[in-house]
This record gives sequence, C-alpha cells and structure tokens, in this order.
Amino acid sequence: MTDETQHGEASFAARARPGIRGLRAYDPGHDLVTLRRRFGDALVELGSNENPWGPSPAAREAVLRQLDMLHRYPDPLGAGLKRALGERHGVDASQVLLGNGSHELLMQLAQVFAGPGDEVVYPRYGFAVFALAAQAVGATLRVADALPLDAAMPLGHDLDALLDAIGPATRLVYLASPNNPTGTWFDGQALAGFLARVPEHVIVVLDEAYAELADAPDYASGTGLLPRHPNLVITRTFSKAYGLAGLRCGYLLAAPGLVAVMERLRESFNVNGPALAACEAALADVDHLQQVRDWNARERAALAEALSARGWRVLPSQTNFLLVEFGAAGAVEAALVAAGVVLRPMAGYGLPGFLRITVGTADENRRLLAALDAVAA
Ligand SMILES: *Cc1c(COP(=O)(O)O)cnc(C)c1O
Repeated sequence: MTDETQHGEASFAARARPGIRGLRAYDPGHDLVTLRRRFGDALVELGSNENPWGPSPAAREAVLRQLDMLHRYPDPLGAGLKRALGERHGVDASQVLLGNGSHELLMQLAQVFAGPGDEVVYPRYGFAVFALAAQAVGATLRVADALPLDAAMPLGHDLDALLDAIGPATRLVYLASPNNPTGTWFDGQALAGFLARVPEHVIVVLDEAYAELADAPDYASGTGLLPRHPNLVITRTFSKAYGLAGLRCGYLLAAPGLVAVMERLRESFNVNGPALAACEAALADVDHLQQVRDWNARERAALAEALSARGWRVLPSQTNFLLVEFGAAGAVEAALVAAGVVLRPMAGYGLPGFLRITVGTADENRRLLAALDAVAA
C-alpha cells in the first residue's frame, strides 16, 4: 500500500504531532537477519559497536537462573542493580535511573524537559539519537558546529560553539564523551570548564556509552562533577563494554530530584528480569571488564595501524570503533557487504567519505582487512 492511500504513511503522518512528521525511523544499518541467513558464521559484523567477546560468564549464568521466573514481573524498582550502580559510581541509589537501553533514557530526557518553543542544543556529528529525541518532542534544534578535520580532536565537539548556541530558550544540551560516531573525547579540565559556563537552567546530558573502554590519560568521565552540578545528567549503558546489547539496559546518574521527576514518566517494568540479574552480575565481574578493555585497546591499536598503513585516514578513538576516511566509502562499503563484512556507512551523519568500523576480535579484523585488500586490488 502506498503513501497516497487513505491508510498510507503520509496520511497518518499528517495526523501525527508536528515533531513526529519530520522524523525518520532510526536507521539500524543493514538487514542483519537476512545477511546472517546468507553468510552464516562467515559474516563479519562490525557495524553496531557490539562487544565481540561477549559478556561476563556470570551474566549468562544469571540469565539462566531467571528462566524459572519468566511468569513473574521483575522488580519494578530495580533496587539491587541501582544499589550496585550507586556503589560503583560513589552516588546514592536515588541518583540512578534505569532504562531499556540508554536510548530510552535519551528520548525520555527530551520528553520530560523540552517541547515546542524550547531549544535543544547538540553538536554536529553527535550521536544520532540526540536529534531524534529533540525532534520527537517538537523542540527547536540548535546544532553547534564541530571542530574541523585538521583539529587535534578531528570532528570532535566544539565546547565553545555549544556554549554559543545556548540561549534563554535552551532547555537541554546533549553531548557525548567518547562520542559516536567520531570516537572523540574530553579531558576533565575541558568538561569542568564547560559545565561551569553552562547556565543553571540548562540540563546537560553527557552520554558516556563508551566510558568503560576509554583508557587515554587525558580522558575523564563526568561522574566526579555530579556533586557540583545538579543540572548534569550522565548516561551509561550495558550494551557496549559489558557486552549485553541484546538485553537492553542502560542507566543515568543525576541529582535525586531530577531522577524523581524522570520516574514519573518511566514505564513500569521497563527493564526485564533477566536484564536486571545479568547487569548486576556483569557489574560485579570487574576482571571480565578489565579483560575486555585490554583486548579492545590491543585490537583497536592494531586495526588502526593496519588501516593507516594501507593509506586510509583513521581518526583517534577512545571507543570500540574507528572512524575511517575512505574517499569512495560508498563503493568500498557495498563491496564489503557483498563479501560478508558489515560496516556502518556515515552518509546519514553528513560524512559520506567515511565508514565506521567496530573493533572486532583479531580473527574478525583479519577477515575485514583481507576483504578490504581484495576490494582495493
Ligand atoms: C550504543 C550507544 C548508546 C546506547 O545504546 P543502548 O540503547 O544503551 O543500547 C548510547 N549512546 C551512544 C553514543 C551509543 O553509541
């Protein structure tokens, strides 16, 4: 059925709230279900920044123990996981809010704090969900220009430009460190200086989805700044370093009052029982997390070097992916998919010459490089 019919998408879009009319559904990249069927185990999935080594074995065991409880609702408060997260981050459990992935929390923050007539500020090349969240609630979007490609932190967030974009109508600022898809990050001084200059009426959402993977001496999480800035919100996820993307669990850290207001909108039982149990177990397994950090750092460096050696420009990254300039990225990407290697095209981000490559296992990275060499030949 086409859009022109009475029951088509255009007809319903006309009836949707103004913010929804201009939205496009989140683009998850390729049709992985079909590709998995076609390539089986030979498929190399490096498009979604998943952890190729998987979660802690303790998380898997925790899920298995939950299988006899599937007829019961989970703990509506997620109290055990919140307590553990509070202890991990040195905050009170009342400062923790759980989400069905941090994507849900990023959307909810806009729902709670912004609407038509309000402005939401975010950086160019910032995580795609920032724009989606702001647009969905009908807020006015203010995009701050990114740092140039020849900056020390290529395509990174320009904190001065973000500050300049803030006005009296600004309700929210979104930014990420490390950021997806650029891989860029901030040091503690830059972050503290930025927060000191943001007016108190503006809520700053700092997305730290890759924080556990950052190991540069000049990287700093914003968690230490929470006591000084009640307008700061930090989002984290179990989808990346913890390897639990399939279970959908993320969280935010903020002032207790902000969390209490967010709780009003939270859907009951938004985080399921197996996820609560697995995340608590994963959090406790600090050795596994350290192992993942080590493996990722090693493979990230090796992959960056191998790609650079082939003449492609690799941007600095503190995450589990690399943003790489290929020039004819579209053709390279299409040839790789045909060979069973999935990467993420960046045209949707306004970076048509780039591809985003998730750091895989040593074997996956080898297969990627072999496929790239075959394409180049
Ligand atoms: C992957 C990612 C998320 C998290 O997603 P979940 O919904 O928690 O799986 C959030 N922010 C950024 C920047 C990401 O790359």
